[in-house]
Amino acid sequence: MKQNPVVNNSPELQDSIHETKRRLAQRPFPDFISLRQHVSVSFEFFPPTSIELENKLWSCVAQLAPLRPRFVSVTYGAGGSTRQRTHATVDKILAETSLIPAAHLTCVGAPRDEVDKVVRRYWDIGVRHLVALRGDSADPGRAFISHPQGYQTAAQLVAGIRKIADFEVTVAAYPEIHPDAESQQADLDNLKRKLDAGANRAITQYFFNADDFLRFLDRVRAAGISAPIIPGILPVTNFARIVKFSEKCGATIPVWMRDLFAGLDDAPDMRQLIAATVAIEQCRLLLEQGINEFHFYTLNRSELTRAICHALGLREYREDSLCELNVSG
Ligand SMILES: Cc1cc2nc3c(=O)[nH]c(=O)nc-3n(C[C@H](O)[C@H](O)[C@H](O)COP(=O)(O)OP(=O)(O)OC[C@H]3O[C@@H](n4cnc5c(N)ncnc54)[C@H](O)[C@@H]3O)c2cc1C
Repeated sequence: MKQNPVVNNSPELQDSIHETKRRLAQRPFPDFISLRQHVSVSFEFFPPTSIELENKLWSCVAQLAPLRPRFVSVTYGAGGSTRQRTHATVDKILAETSLIPAAHLTCVGAPRDEVDKVVRRYWDIGVRHLVALRGDSADPGRAFISHPQGYQTAAQLVAGIRKIADFEVTVAAYPEIHPDAESQQADLDNLKRKLDAGANRAITQYFFNADDFLRFLDRVRAAGISAPIIPGILPVTNFARIVKFSEKCGATIPVWMRDLFAGLDDAPDMRQLIAATVAIEQCRLLLEQGINEFHFYTLNRSELTRAICHALGLREYREDSLCELNVSG
């Protein structure tokens, strides 16, 4: 039954409408499509441990490559455990794709001259971008112990790399502070040391509250650091696993996120939808604040990252078809 609309012209309602309009004008919802030219992404992969995982990785690479990432990075397993597999994966990206690889390298379990040899080898085969990290102990319960003749910190590793060749160097940053850091200021000083040693940019540990990143960025800029700080975005595929991992790495799982994923342990399809929504909203909030470069921890799965990039306005580019990025209007 059609009802006559009740017109409410109360001054309170008019004030409220006016206030809402004012706020919307101040924080316009970003037009993802018009932003597409400005958004830049990079993707992180891990080296596979079996034929099945290898197939999964290369299928993921093939799915994400048309989004034209600025670079793709390949991790180095905890405790230096994937050394050969990291090299092999980087070699294959370089040889068989048009993507630009960035090889992760840690200080763990090797003397400096051995690490330096790896750096030279990368340069010789044409790798020009390294992600320089301290790394962690292979045993998750134990503290990091440096090799007696090794690099002790990521800052030392950056300086070592810089002495060898003119690599682009990325380092890690921690919006919620590294668990080993003595204080927020000590962690910030450490980031500055890495950039002063010659790093070009930092990628952050994942976080779920956009505000944590934005407040960190404020502190970084207040400390006089002008290098790009790229938010690390983790699309959540397995919530229970992320909760466990976050306890170790110091990332907060917000209450609203626990609430969103509650009761979905046996509903993987719904989890995917929620995960995409959470990450898209996170990126949207960052875009609103002028952040337009994102690094995705893909976990070698393409679906969520593709969906999020699509929402950010990125369109797939194929050599053999009209590039959508050039289609105007
Ligand atoms: C983007 C990204 C990628 C990653 N990739 C990998 C990977 O591929 N493989 C892997 O094993 N791990 C990886 N990690 C995890 C990383 O190795 C761990 O977080 C590690 O515990 C710290 O590495 P770092 O490079 O940040 O260390 P550092 O920058 O050396 O800092 C480690 C801690 O020591 C403190 N510190 C450093 N120097 C000093 C000093 N002189 N005095 C006092 N305190 C000091 C710092 O404040 C900090 O708390 C990654 C992390 C991120 C964010």
